[in-house]
Amino acid sequence: MTSTNDIRRTFLDYFAANDHQVVPSAPLVPYNDPSLMFVNAGMVPFKNVFTGVETPPTPRAASSQKCVRAGGKHNDLDNVGYTARHLTFFEMLGNFSFGDYFKERAIELAWSLVTRDLGLAADRLTVTVYHTDDEAYDLWRKIAGLPEDRIIRIATKDNFWAMGADGPCGPSSEIFWDHGPEIAGGPPGSPEEDGDRFVEIWNLVFMQNVQEADEIVGDLPRPSIDTGMGLERIATVMQGVHNVFETDTFQAIIAASEELAQAKAEGDALGSHRVIADHLRSTSFLIADGVLPSNEGRGYVLRRIMRRAMRHAHLLGASEPLMHRLVPTLVGEMGQAYPDLPRAQALITEVLEREETRFRQTLEKGLRLLDDATANLGEGDRLSGETAFKLYDTYGFPYDLTEDALRSRGVAVDRDGFDAAMDRQKAAARAAWKGSGAAADSEIWFDIAEREGATEFTGYTSTEGEGRV
Ligand code: ATP
Ligand code: MG
Ligand code: MG
Ligand code: MG
Repeated sequence: MTSTNDIRRTFLDYFAANDHQVVPSAPLVPYNDPSLMFVNAGMVPFKNVFTGVETPPTPRAASSQKCVRAGGKHNDLDNVGYTARHLTFFEMLGNFSFGDYFKERAIELAWSLVTRDLGLAADRLTVTVYHTDDEAYDLWRKIAGLPEDRIIRIATKDNFWAMGADGPCGPSSEIFWDHGPEIAGGPPGSPEEDGDRFVEIWNLVFMQNVQEADEIVGDLPRPSIDTGMGLERIATVMQGVHNVFETDTFQAIIAASEELAQAKAEGDALGSHRVIADHLRSTSFLIADGVLPSNEGRGYVLRRIMRRAMRHAHLLGASEPLMHRLVPTLVGEMGQAYPDLPRAQALITEVLEREETRFRQTLEKGLRLLDDATANLGEGDRLSGETAFKLYDTYGFPYDLTEDALRSRGVAVDRDGFDAAMDRQKAAARAAWKGSGAAADSEIWFDIAEREGATEFTGYTSTEGEGRV
């Protein structure tokens, strides 16, 4: 079996052999983009190069970039454990051309890697192109010899990439693997595309235009290439399995979690082990990159992921904090590729243990309250916003944790009621402060706190926005 570590190596070696400079992954906290929560694609560290603000470090580059999609515009947190292909933390393998080669070479390089070096069967691959991109369509015919019905024209934003309302943009082309008719789902563009049968493995972006206010206003003087292939997804294919959690890295973590929790990964427990394994990766890598749990911004996203995992550890019946004891396995699997991980091992262990010990003090009571409050609720019912707020305020349950806990029973949460309870509490705090006889102008701090978001609640809302912190 080809290990995930081998596949990463094969990818980087291939592009090095094809005159690309291999660059290390950037940290998960973007250094050049305060508007973005976490790095969520391989191109993020190169944004300023693509816009022309920075000169390219090299004409052609390749990387394996750590990505987190658990907040902001790209949020896959609610997909984890529910689809066979989404993780909150994953590695994006990418090759980049900064005004160097373009569409033809990019398609050649991708096709040759996938079908020759990685040896995937061509007849199980399907590609998409943007509906107006005849050039890409013809190149796939010529280079890959794909039959017409396996080059699908897509008219949606799925196949048109843009950095923002203003800036570089262009059509994209995606490569899909058919996991077989026994898996539910249909080809891209079909009504069943959201299933896990046809899984997108690689996205090739052809940056060729410039837009202003979401309208194309011209062509880039030097078109560029940005690609992203999910390492865990290609490993799933290479290892002959159908779900990212069945690949070697996850199997190792899940085996450790089974052992520590004394619970087999089957039935209801399977989902819990998977969520724990995914969240272990995202939280550990975030801590290694300097994020610490807190009540706002990035730190609150980290805390929310940690606590979701900790609820699952509790569901498995683990009697002691679990997450931090999985760190050695994670480091064993990924420490060589990411030396920052073993370097931060002691910190990661300590932060995870402290958070889990602390959350355990209220978790059980909170879950009991949740059970009582929902005893008579079923499919289609809603938990009151008051109760969700009490769970948040008294027991440290992030709003989304409560929602997640009720999802399998089809019970929703009254979001408006939750917001109203939050507002009432803020107003009460303000009134108490006024009544305390403090100087009237101290009130300005409440205004600042509300505007700047120095409250626990803001940590949550900030993840609802466009990746703003
Ligand atoms: P999907 O449509 O499956 O959600 P995407 O179109 O959002 O994927 P891109 O933004 O194109 O993904 O990212 C490039 C590649 O990164 C994808 O082709 C996929 O292989 C991988 N990828 C994206 N999101 C995830 C995720 N949450 N977990 C694992 N791999 C991912
Ligand atoms: Mg997606
Ligand atoms: Mg997609
Ligand atoms: Mg895509």
